[in-house]
Formats: sequence, C-alpha cells, structure tokens
Amino acid sequence: MTTYEAVIGLETHVQLNTITKIFCACRADSWQMPPNSNICPVCTGLPGVLPVLNKTVVEKGVRLAAAMNSKINDVSFFDRKNYFYPDLPKGYQITQYDVPIAEGGYLDFPVADGGTRRVRLRKMHLEEDAGKTRLEGNLRYVDFNRCGVPLIEIVTEPDLRSAEDTAQYLIRLRQLLRWLDLSEANMERGQMRCDANISIRPVGSDALNTKTEIKNVNSIDAIQSAIANEIKRQIREVQAGNEIHPWTLDWDDNAGVLRMMRSKETEADYRYFREPDLLPVRLTPGWKQAILEQMPELPLQRRQRFMDEYALPEYDSDILTSERSLSDYFEETVRLYAGDPKKVSNWLMNDVLRLLNEKNITADRLHLTPVYLADILKMVDQKSINTNTGKTLLVKVEESSRTPAEIVKAEGLVQLSDDHAIRLICEAMLSENPSEVESYRAGKTTLLGWFVGQVMRKSGGKVNPNLARGIIEELLK
Ligand code: ADP
Ligand code: ZN
Ligand code: MG
Repeated sequence: MTTYEAVIGLETHVQLNTITKIFCACRADSWQMPPNSNICPVCTGLPGVLPVLNKTVVEKGVRLAAAMNSKINDVSFFDRKNYFYPDLPKGYQITQYDVPIAEGGYLDFPVADGGTRRVRLRKMHLEEDAGKTRLEGNLRYVDFNRCGVPLIEIVTEPDLRSAEDTAQYLIRLRQLLRWLDLSEANMERGQMRCDANISIRPVGSDALNTKTEIKNVNSIDAIQSAIANEIKRQIREVQAGNEIHPWTLDWDDNAGVLRMMRSKETEADYRYFREPDLLPVRLTPGWKQAILEQMPELPLQRRQRFMDEYALPEYDSDILTSERSLSDYFEETVRLYAGDPKKVSNWLMNDVLRLLNEKNITADRLHLTPVYLADILKMVDQKSINTNTGKTLLVKVEESSRTPAEIVKAEGLVQLSDDHAIRLICEAMLSENPSEVESYRAGKTTLLGWFVGQVMRKSGGKVNPNLARGIIEELLK
C-alpha cells in the first residue's frame, strides 16, 4: 500500500496594530465599536476621494520582512484587485500584486521532536481589509468599520508536512508578530486569519497535486484539527480511486467538520491593475536603515542565548521568551539580583507568571518590578525572610504600592532564626496537640511535616522551617 505525505502552504492575513487605517485617518482598531461608526469617505470609497498611504504600515511590513529573512523591495507598488461583494464598497481592494513589499525568505522553528523545520516564504504584501457582513434572520447586515484596516499577508511555499508542524509555524509567527509589536495577532478576534492549502502525494514524490483550501478557522487548535481531517479525507478519496477537487472548504468548529463553500475564482477574474491613485512605495536607503537599526533580538535567537548564556533548560528558555517583555523582565532581574539565573527563572515561571495570568497583563505592567523581585530574592538568600514569606511578599508588593522592605518592616515578616524563640513556639505547638504527638511516637513519623506546618501557622510563616523541623524532631525524641 502507498503511504502518503501532506503538502501544506499557508496564506496568513495579519491586522497591523497601527493607530489609523492604511489609507485614511479612521482608527484602525474598531473592535467592539458600533457598526459603521468608524468610517469616512475614503474607506467607504465615495467618488472623488484619494487614499494616502500610512507610513507606519510600510515600516511594520519592513520589520516583519527583515525578521523573516525576506528580500525587501526598495520600490513596490499597490494594485487594484477587482471584485464585487457587499463588504467591499469600492468594488476593489487595494493590495500588492506583482511587486510586493518583500519576497522570499524563511522561518526556522523548533518542533516537538527536538528538530527544526524551515518554511520558505513566497512573498509578503500589504493591503487593506474589507468590511464584514452578518446574517440575522433572513436579513444580511453590512459593517464597514473594518474597511481599510491595514493587513500584511504572508504566503509560504508548500513546505509544511503535517498538521502539527503547521500549528507550530503559526505559534512562532504569532510570537514574532507580537514581539515586533506588529499585531496582537489574536485569531479569535480575527487579527490573524489563516487559509491553509492542502494536497497529498505518495512519499518520495515531489508532485504538487490538486489542493483544497480551508478558510475561516479562528484558532490554531482548530486549524490543526481541520488540516488533520482534510489530510485523512484526501487519502481516503485517493485510495478509493476518486479525484481531489480544488474546493474551498469552511471549517465548522462546533461540529468539527469541513463543508464545501465554493469552487475557486481564478486570478484572471480579479483583473488586477496598478492603483492609479497611489505612488510607488520608495524605501529610501536612509529610511530603510532607520527601520532596520531598530530591530530587536528575535525571539528564537533570544531563546538560544538564554540557554547558552544563563545555562537555562530549553523548557525555561522557551517560556521566558514566549513574550518580549517577559524576557526583558527576566534579564533585568538576573542583572540586579546577580545570583543564580535558574533561581530567577523558577520564581518567574511559578509565581510571576501566575500573577500575569491572573491579572491578564504583560510583565512590563507589573508593580512588582525587577528591582523589587531582585530585592525579595536577596532577602531570601540572606535568610532575612524565608521562601514562603518571599512568595507571599511578592503578591503583596504587586497588590500594594509599597516596596518589599516597607512591607517586611510594617508586617514584621522578618524570619525568626533565633533558636530559643523557635523552640518556645514548637513546645507550645506540641503541648496543644497531644494526640498527634502520641501517634508520632507510635510510629506515624509522617506527622513531622504537619507539625512543621502548625509551627509555621502559629508564627505567621516567619519561622525558618528547616530550623523548626530540627527542633521538633529533637523535642519529640
Ligand atoms: P492559487 O493559484 O490557488 O492561488 P498559489 O500557487 O498562489 O495557489 O499558492 C497559494 C498557496 O498554496 C501558497 O501558500 C502555496 O504554498 C500553496 N500551494 C500551492 N500549491 C500547493 C499544493 N499543490 N499543495 C499544497 N499547497 C499548495
Ligand atoms: Zn476612513
Ligand atoms: Mg494565488
């Protein structure tokens, strides 16, 4: 029996997080605004208006191109893609066709088996988004707010070979887009939208067979499921001697099934021609250089450097570089603390990440700054507070506007390391729990931990638990 492999190429549309739209002064982000409240004569295509290109859109495109090793075109053009649809009031979309902002390039990304995959890029182009329509009962409503929102479309070569790799590519692309401050890239909000092209072929063949295209998927998990289903379906069809038709398929996330939408338009249907209302985009050497000089270290490079420079496990490095401000936070804390980086990593991954998740914010917005976290770590190292106190202190700093030192002083959190004082608390605790003491002596030595816990509670967490443990053991003897 023939074994088959999947051939997958992606076309991903990303909404750029500029302040204004691509060709007018309307706000770009109209998410949650009332329908048709964020429109003007330009983005609704009234006669006689002229588009003016938003410079930041070009700059963001160049940043992404540079990060993905693409060839940046010093001159690129806008074109008209003509089609009729109710969400497109101009009757055409301004996009880039034969000379886009960037061509070629690739993204290397790690996968679960420990290896790396490379996806080559075909091109990247800038364009405007269309509006939205919504069906209610038997009426269809149109909302033009999204018309003219800047998009960058990233088209890959058909280099992906599985649903899992496709999901990984999207995770890394999303990470990069956020890292470079190009987009929130939230698929659920439509800020990143992905069309997946899929075909199959016998392993060993390099044929590009008839493909289908999956649209309208709004999460990375759903894309992975949709592709996995489609690969299985194509293999079943081919094994049954049937042909694959070039369908466009729509993913129904609730039912977990693909439905046929329509057969595909061809390029000729769009009658592309140069946009006569816009000049060519000329990226002067000075402008280009200014953009490139501001490129930060990229996430996967930083991930590798964290392993090399701080001897962090891959797992830690991956999490700490999942988001740029978190990786900045980590490095700043390591610098200020001047202690073991792995210890900083542990505190970040356990306690700081919990705070970030609970508050749904990024690390740069914490009140618990790297300065404060480094202070807390130093206090723990110097044994002026114990680890548990350190962990509650961290939460208290975040919730208040006080410094760690102020809280320690105000709440008397300094760790009790004085042997005599701890001994008194231990003695009191044991005399309050005679039946547990009896069980312990009868052989239930696992109660030791419970005794330590009681002492911690009695002392408001201030006792050094290791000292307490030794003293309790000694007293019980
Ligand atoms: P179309 O003519 O349908 O627009 P393109 O050649 O423009 O197709 O490619 C669109 C996307 O589909 C690209 O991401 C490309 O990598 C991918 N693709 C092209 N051919 C195949 C194929 N046979 N199987 C899977 N993906 C493909
Ligand atoms: Zn407008
Ligand atoms: Mg095409």
